[in-house]
Order: sequence, then C-alpha cells, then structure tokens
Amino acid sequence: MKWKQQLNGMKAYKPGKPIEEVKREFGLDEVVKLASNENPYGYSPKVKAFLESDYTNHAIYPDGYAQSLRTAVAEYLDVKESELIFGNGSDDLIAILTRALLYPGVNTVMATPSFSQYKHNAEIEGAEVREVPLKNRKHDLEAMLNAIDENTSIVWICNPNNPTGTIVSDEELKAFLAKVPSEVLVVLDEAYFEYVNDPAYQNTLPYVQQYPNVVVMRTFSKAYGLASFRVGYLVGQEDVVAKLDPVRAPFNNTILSQKVAIVALNDQQFITECCEANEKGKQQYVEFCEKHGLDYYPSQTNFILFEVKADSDLVFQEMMERGFIIRSGNALGAPGYIRVTIGTEQQNSKFLGLLEEVLTEQGVFA
Ligand SMILES: *Cc1c(COP(=O)(O)O)cnc(C)c1O
Repeated sequence: MKWKQQLNGMKAYKPGKPIEEVKREFGLDEVVKLASNENPYGYSPKVKAFLESDYTNHAIYPDGYAQSLRTAVAEYLDVKESELIFGNGSDDLIAILTRALLYPGVNTVMATPSFSQYKHNAEIEGAEVREVPLKNRKHDLEAMLNAIDENTSIVWICNPNNPTGTIVSDEELKAFLAKVPSEVLVVLDEAYFEYVNDPAYQNTLPYVQQYPNVVVMRTFSKAYGLASFRVGYLVGQEDVVAKLDPVRAPFNNTILSQKVAIVALNDQQFITECCEANEKGKQQYVEFCEKHGLDYYPSQTNFILFEVKADSDLVFQEMMERGFIIRSGNALGAPGYIRVTIGTEQQNSKFLGLLEEVLTEQGVFA
C-alpha cells in the first residue's frame, strides 16, 4: 500500500506497563505507577461528587465548541473565548499544530531531551527535526535561535521541561521571544504550570497578547488529576486559533470530560493542596539524592530525574518487580538516570527504601 514514507520504521508511543499487567506478571498485590506524572491524590472531591450524581446522556454528540468549558476557562484565564482551542489532551493539540504547520521541506526546532511527542508528530508530517541539546540543564535558547532558518515553522519550548523538570526563566524567555522571527510559531508547553513555584517563572499569557506567533498549551491531565478524561487547551491570538480550528476533529472532547473539567477548574483549593504536598514529596527525593551523592535535576514539577549510578533499565526492572513502575532514563535520553513521579509521602518512602535496597545490591552504595 502507499504509506507515507516517513512511517517506515516508526513505532507507537510506548507507555509504562499497565498496573494490572505488572501485578499479574510478578504476582504482586499492590503496584504503584510513578511513571506518567499523574496526580497521586487523584482529582478534586468535588469532581468525585459530581461524577456520582451525573446523568449525562452519552448517546448524543458533545458540544464540539465546548461552549461551557470555554466560558469557564476564558474567565479563569482572563482571555477571550475566541482565543482558546480545546484538545483531546495536549497530545491532540500537538498533533493539530504539526498537521497545520509541518510538511516535507520545513523544519521544527526543539530541545533534547524533551517531550517525545513533538518529534514523533513532526516525523509523521515529514518535517525535518532539529534537536538542540540542553545547556546547564535547560533549553539552550541561544542555540535554538541559531537553529532557526527561513524554513522553520515551529519552535517548541517545554516549560517546565519533561523529562528534566527544569524551567526557562521569564527573563530568558522574554529575550528569546523578542528575537524569534515573527513567522515562526513558538509553542510554550506548560503541562506542569500549576506546580511551578520558582519566582523566575512568570505567567506567559501576556506574551500571547504581545506576539501573534506565540501560543501556550496547558492540560487537565497533570495537577488536576484528570488524565483519563483527555482535556488540554491552547491559548493563542484569535487569527491563530481560527487557522488551527479546522484541523481539529469535530467532537474531540466528550460531554462528560467537558463537564468534569469545569468542576475541577472551580476547585483551586485542591490544586493548591496538591502542589504543597508535592513540594514535601519532592524534598524526600532531594534528601535521598543528597544523602547518597546522586545527581538530580532541580525540578519544578511533580516528577524528578535523578542519577542511579547503575544501568537505568536494570533499576527500572528491579523496581517493577518490587511493585513500582517508573521510567528508565534510557528511554528518555538520560541514561544512568531514572524519572520518578512524586507520589504520596507513603509511596515515596516505600519507593526510596526499596531503591536503596536495589542500589546497595548493585554495589552503588559501598
Ligand atoms: C503529559 C504531558 C503532555 C500531554 O498531556 P495530555 O494533556 O494528557 O495529552 C504534554 N506535554 C508534556 C510536557 C507532558 O508532560
């Protein structure tokens, strides 16, 4: 058949093993997934109450314009309703952006290591991918600027960056945006926005007003704890949103997911509490790393990338056999490191106790 040439040798995204499969394979009663940066506290109790009392008619199509959710998010962010586009998760928005702007002959600039979906989608569209290594553990904005040429369509800034958890400061970002050519779209992926507490990181929505070529993506999948509902959104100027909207599938958010996102948005207290708990949890990992002399990336998110001084795949496997699913740095462009989602205090203690055991067995701690 006449497949797109670029699909040759491409593989589907490989998520962490499902909990049920790990339980069966290793005969475990309890398995904790700290691999995909979901919220360990789940979602707001208000969402839970809503779901228990909901009687949505799922036989009818959802509102493709997501009017109620649109009104709620526009009010919350203080942007116009016409400046929003909703995706089936931000993954969907990444696909929409690449489909709208990338094709053979153009290129796209991104950091490495960074979120895998920018590259994956760009490859499907047949665009050239220009990966710029991190410098001092963050996006090397200067090198990224240098990588831009007249054929560049999109520059991706994952901020905070996945898998490192590091941020680009507002000062650096401001200087960068002032220099990017106005015909190059800059995508600010802020999937972990809610978790950031470094004052050097600022709200970027004013940049969307200032620059027609800047868009911001956020999601309900991480801090809001709604990964399974698949709701992400993009903020851009009206003209940009109008260009992207025809690329979007007509009913890309379900009725229930739209309703749930509104309820979740209205419980900011829950988000605040989760972020506070996350800070404490992060400290457990930082203390562990410092105690054992393991290098770690300073994280502004609900995950942390740190050194294990052993083969990452082996540590991944050993931890899985002990009931914890994490990500090996090998799969993320960070060999010798593991990426762990920060769990509840109890999950973190148990995880770190077992990790100490594994690393001792491996002769890392003499
Ligand atoms: C998790 C994640 C996403 C995808 O989130 P969804 O909204 O669930 O599709 C996008 N970008 C980054 C950097 C992420 O870590």
